[in-house]
This record gives sequence, structure tokens and C-alpha cells, in this order.
Amino acid sequence: MHHVKFARVNAVSARSEARPPQSPVLRLIADDRAGTANLHPEPRYKTERTSRASETIAAQGGGAVDAATGAVVPPIHLATTFVRDADNQYRRGFCYGRSDNATVRQTEDVLTELEGGAATLLLASGMAAAATTFLALERPAHVIAPTAMYWGLCQWLVEDAPGHGIETTFVDAGDPKALANAVRPGLTRLIWIETPSNPTWTITDIGAAARIAHAAGALFAVDSTVSTPVLTQPIAFGADLVLHSATKYLNGHSDVVAGAIVFAEARGIHERAARLRTMLGSIVGAFEAALLLRGMRTLHVRVRHQSRSAMTIAQHFVGHPAIASVLYPGLATHPGHATAAAQMRGGFGGMLSLRLAGGEAAAIAVAARLRVWKRATSLGGVESLVEHRSSIEGAGSPCPPDLLRLSVGLEAIEDLIADLEEALA
Ligand code: PLP
Repeated sequence: MHHVKFARVNAVSARSEARPPQSPVLRLIADDRAGTANLHPEPRYKTERTSRASETIAAQGGGAVDAATGAVVPPIHLATTFVRDADNQYRRGFCYGRSDNATVRQTEDVLTELEGGAATLLLASGMAAAATTFLALERPAHVIAPTAMYWGLCQWLVEDAPGHGIETTFVDAGDPKALANAVRPGLTRLIWIETPSNPTWTITDIGAAARIAHAAGALFAVDSTVSTPVLTQPIAFGADLVLHSATKYLNGHSDVVAGAIVFAEARGIHERAARLRTMLGSIVGAFEAALLLRGMRTLHVRVRHQSRSAMTIAQHFVGHPAIASVLYPGLATHPGHATAAAQMRGGFGGMLSLRLAGGEAAAIAVAARLRVWKRATSLGGVESLVEHRSSIEGAGSPCPPDLLRLSVGLEAIEDLIADLEEALA
């Protein structure tokens, strides 16, 4: 596998040198007025091929050493504006904080490498990243999405997206035939999947879904929030776009809200999404990007540990008299297990769900008795969380009412199991 490394380069690119020198001031003023000023100048960090492993890239935060001080942790760039060259150009690559920021770009470059993509955009939340992806499609747009998916995004697709000329067909994405049947030739612009998907951890065959999307001339996006690049790299299976709520595993410490879109190619929808991020002002903050870069340094150890613990918990509670079923793609009984085993490596993730034999009332009562597991929304942090999803999602939710969703953290496995045992007793 090839990876890239950061190197501070002379930011005067061949392209900008080749530009005619005449009236740059007038051009910038005209561009500013037209709202088309070059807000995406040449990157300051140039990529060079190396063969570093994913763990090395993450642990070293991309490996950049601050040129001014030799610091192994990069400084946080807070400037909102940057000095123009004498001829009003921005040859150092940055002009205004709403379009770009060096700390954000450095974090983006690490995620691009981890996913094996061509470019990444970091936004203020996972929802901003997802909505930006849909809004960057050509309209009118028909899109296909799974019935089991993050509830907030499902709500946006149902209630808000139609007003933007986006119509969604929801299908069981675990069934490639259902995906293929939902295609509207010439109109379907995007197939969106989430795998494993909330909260039943349904598995979609990424390669099969990619082939269906591409045969229809559509783009293919994977919400890989739960899998993370540690376990799956969807681009290698044909994804055009990989989405993350970076709020979850990528940051991993429940102290940052952020989202990411990783692009297989740095053109087309990448350019339209970058423009939307600038125009809507939805770029992630520099502090959040720095915390995210710090969080990603331990991504591999966290995700592998959480996957091992989730598997242990899932196996432990299979057959427990108070539990009707354990939903975890690592169990051979899970309908998506074989596909998950083929496209996830080194674990099946840190998320699982328990369906209680005593129904909804039992699920709510068990959550109320837990002490180590915290009753809170979200997932992917170092602390274990439990949530009764159907009461959070409310009317219309496809989530079974007897289901408790568990996000496994880094606590001692004995404490996590004992707490569940006591609450179930
Ligand atoms: N995708 C998945 C799978 C999620 O679980 C979430 C949030 O829970 C999102 C997207 C939205 O991310 P955010 O809360 O960062 O906006």
C-alpha cells in the first residue's frame, strides 16, 4: 500500500507561476464581487509517496514536524485571515478561515491517507458532511438510502431533502437485489449506505452496492462511522465517497463534534462540496481539528480493543434468559456475518445491540439499572454508553422497542459484563 507524507513546500505552484501576471488585483476584486474568488488555492502540504502503514500515519498525526520549532505536535492555526503578496496573490496557499485552515488541512490529509482516498473535507459535524454530500448532487436527484441508518440523517432525507429537489427511496440495503430494483435509470444520482448500520448493525456488501451504483451511472457513498478505516476502507471496494461522523470513533473522546467526507477523486463532487462548505461556512473549527488529529493518533488501538470487548460481550450474552437476541456482526448467527468477515479486517466494531426478552419495559428498566454503562446518546468514545433508541427516535422509528444499543468503550471488560449481568438479573 502506498501512503503519502507531508512536506512543507514552496507554495508557488507551477500553475500559479504559469498564470499571466496581468491585473491580478482587478481579477481578485472581480472574483470577490462574483463570489468566485479563488478560495481553494494550491495545497501547502505536498504529498510524496512512502510505504508507511496506517498505524504509523495515525500515531504520528501524519508525521509532520513543525518547521519553526521542531515540535512533534503541530501548532494550532487560529488566524482567520492571511497577508496577500505584493501583487495581491496568496502564494502561501491560505486566504480566509471560512474556506480553509492549515490545522484542518493537516487533519484532512491524515484521514485521506487512512482511507486511501484522494482528498478529504472536514466539516462542523457528521450531519453537515452528509447534508453537504446530498446538496452537492445534480438536481433533480433521486437517491437510494437504507431503512436502517442514522436516524437524524433519515429524518433530514424525509423532511428536508425534498425541498432541495432530492427524493429518497429507502430499501433494505443488506439485500443487493433491493438496491438494484430501486434504481431509476437516468435519475438516480447516489446510492448511500451505512455499514454496519444503526442500530441493528445490518451489513451491506460494499462491492456489490458499488457495482449497482456505477452501472446506474450514480455515485456511491458509504457512511463508515462505525467501521472506521481501521476495519474497512470502502474506497478499496469501489466507494466514491466515505462519510464519517468524526464525533464518534475518529475523535474517540466525546469532546469534539465534527464530520468528514473522503473522496476517491479530487474533482467533480469534491469541488462542488468544497464550494458548498465555503459558501455555507460549515468548515470545522481549528481547535476541533487539532483535537481530532490528537484523537486519531490512538484510533487503531482504541478500535481494536473496543472490537475485542464488543465480541466478548456479544458472545457472553448469547443465550442469556433475559435476552431474546444479540445483534452483532461478529456472531456467526448475524445475517451479515459472512459479508462483514469479507470486508472488515481485524474486528467487527465496538457497537452491538441487545433485544430484551421482556420487551420495551424490560429494556428501559435494564438501562435504568446500569451504573458503569452511561445512559447517553452518541457512540465511539472511550466510555461505554447505552441507549434505548426507539424512545429517542420516536414515532415512525424502525428501531425495535425492545432494543438497547451499546457502544463499548475502553473500561475493563469484567466491569462491563458484571454491570450488565446485575442489571439483567
Ligand atoms: N452517521 C452516523 C452513523 C451517526 O451515528 C451519526 C451521529 O450519531 C451521524 C452520522 C451524524 O453525526 P454528527 O452527530 O457528528 O452530526
